[in-house]
Amino acid sequence: MDNTLAAQARADAAPRPVLRLRFSPSRMTPSSPCIGRFAPSPTGPLHAGSLVAALASYLDARANGGAWLIRIEDIDEGRAVPGAAETILAQLDWLGMHSDGEIVWQSRRKDLYQAARERIADYVYGCGCNRREIADSRLGVAPDGSAIYPGTCRHGLAPGREARSLRLRVPEPGEDLIGFQDRFAGWQEQRLALESGDFVLKRADGYWAYQLAVVVDDAEQGVTDVVRGADLLDSTPRQIYLQRLLGVPTPRYLHVPVVRNANGEKLSKQTGALAVLPGNEEAAVAALQQAAGFLGLRLAAQTTSLAAFWQEAVPAWANLLAERGALLTG
Ligand SMILES: [Zn+2]
Repeated sequence: MDNTLAAQARADAAPRPVLRLRFSPSRMTPSSPCIGRFAPSPTGPLHAGSLVAALASYLDARANGGAWLIRIEDIDEGRAVPGAAETILAQLDWLGMHSDGEIVWQSRRKDLYQAARERIADYVYGCGCNRREIADSRLGVAPDGSAIYPGTCRHGLAPGREARSLRLRVPEPGEDLIGFQDRFAGWQEQRLALESGDFVLKRADGYWAYQLAVVVDDAEQGVTDVVRGADLLDSTPRQIYLQRLLGVPTPRYLHVPVVRNANGEKLSKQTGALAVLPGNEEAAVAALQQAAGFLGLRLAAQTTSLAAFWQEAVPAWANLLAERGALLTG
């Protein structure tokens, strides 16, 4: 027979099912020592830049005997282009890059982001500032181009103001240094208070911010290795800070150089679209070889066969990692 104390003890010892389930790797996640992912935003078909990120993450997972997942980052539903995600998935399929687990869509996972926000509620506050007010504070611009938030609403909204967005409190100056070892870019560090300020978790338009979604998804999918473009290097310290607050592991990071056009600008979906279409194997191999060349892979011979490309590319990536001292060390 149960008595109250024993039942209470069992309840205390029992896992808390909701949060545990939500933040342990999903049951669809393959069990693998290394789990990588490619997480495109569906704003257009694959282009030369996004193919480099896809290829690097795929080769890294394969060269390390790991699994590779695809996640559609359509959390900014205002920017998502109808049909673009399906196009990207068809292109990846045709190129021979298949997800080892369920393909997840951020727009369908809002309950996870809400649960995460509740978990760190003590660090979250409503902000009533608009973009212009933050820019006017003249604290400067963060490395990613956003204005550094001056902390106006940190201690409560001014009378008559309403919260437009939710922000996450970062540590005070002096306690705000976040560093990490990037497998390609080397040691990186950022002072969150000085270089970012309290950052947005939920935007004024009602969408969850990328920083929260990516951290929650990587944790929930059990991702151990994030391989992506160097334009996200500056976001990584904010993501590591979120991981620490949420109590989830920090993955290893490898940021590959960003593909730029002749003017030095990052390629956009409009300028760099690839002719990667089912049926045209020659164009598919050419696109992959171009991406491999950008990454510095040394491939022995030109080939027009997808199968031959992959056979050569995986060991070539392992060689590149070894040369750069970027092999996984566990
Ligand atoms: Zn504010």
